[in-house]
Amino acid sequence: MKTFDLNDKISAPVSKVAAYVPGEQPGTPDWVKLNTNEFPYPPSPRVREALMCELSDGCAKLRLYPDPVSRRLREAIAHHFCVPAEYVLAGNGSDDILNLAVRAFSDGDKKIVTIDPSYSLYPVLAKIEGSQLINIPFENGLEIPYEKIFSSGANIFFFTNPNAPTGAGFGREAVEKIAENFDGIVLVDEAYAPFSNFSAAELVRKYPNLIVVGTTSKGWALAGMRIGWAIADPALIDVLDRVRDSYNLDRLAQAAGVAAMGDDNYYREFRGKVIAEREETQKFFDSIGWDYVKSSSNFILFTPKDKSGKSSPAAAASLFDFLREKKILLRYFPKEKSVSSSIRLTVGTPEQMKAFKDAALEWSKK
Ligand SMILES: *Cc1c(COP(=O)(O)O)cnc(C)c1O
Repeated sequence: MKTFDLNDKISAPVSKVAAYVPGEQPGTPDWVKLNTNEFPYPPSPRVREALMCELSDGCAKLRLYPDPVSRRLREAIAHHFCVPAEYVLAGNGSDDILNLAVRAFSDGDKKIVTIDPSYSLYPVLAKIEGSQLINIPFENGLEIPYEKIFSSGANIFFFTNPNAPTGAGFGREAVEKIAENFDGIVLVDEAYAPFSNFSAAELVRKYPNLIVVGTTSKGWALAGMRIGWAIADPALIDVLDRVRDSYNLDRLAQAAGVAAMGDDNYYREFRGKVIAEREETQKFFDSIGWDYVKSSSNFILFTPKDKSGKSSPAAAASLFDFLREKKILLRYFPKEKSVSSSIRLTVGTPEQMKAFKDAALEWSKK
């Protein structure tokens, strides 16, 4: 064989990409796992029933391809968000949808704009596509830099709402102002909207440039199933549909998604527990004088203070490591300057939060 130089064969954009690094998934169940914003309670019992049904007769149905357009799932999502079914596209997790949007609406000339900090997957997707991602910092702490976004010249704006990793949520006024004034597509990434009191989904009938992206991973306890969606004007859905894999959701994901979307009562109750625990945890931070961003999500970005009352990247790293030793796992972003003195804490069960609070107190006195 001739000498083979792989580096020479990689496409120009991909040759410059480092893979996205997701939060750690430890291999054993003995961790207090508060690092990737999963739901702390099991999914609705209806999900199990739907999965067992899909697997009946010795899994005979698995011989057959799934519905390529996930019709029943699209209908269930549409019903949940009170929009017609042709406004919905289902994806293999919302990461799939974000990828479709980057491929469909950006290239070497058509740029993407986002606010810094936001979901750390966006820069990776942009690089793979050879697109430029413009990062505009929040103003005065946590205000949206509207004018800079509007004058950025970008083709699509990725708006994480509620924001990750800060947890701060913005309401209808903010989304409408952006949809009206931004000269391009506005994609609202609503992974955490189930824990806030606002979703922009209903606004898609008013704004033909708006895409609202959601997932069952955070608010429906189904991160392991990979179910996401885009809600938008049918003309936008049609473009995304051109780009996706022809069978982008498997049979089990479609069945689980339909069952989960149909059990609002269950999720209302258990989300209520998460929200109550979030408020309790914020009170805990108040009581020990640690700063945090008021959260509209199922996680809290907080800034620990060491024994002498100081915050710093070193203090955050120290607490993160101290907790890790105790098998309490949080998420720390040391390379992201705007949040390197802070740590992100997923809101878990009362028992998990007690373990976290006890250990944090112990560290603060050390
Ligand atoms: C977790 C998360 C996602 C990814 O969700 P999946 O549906 O699991 O792919 C998307 N956006 C944000 C902001 C997230 O935090």
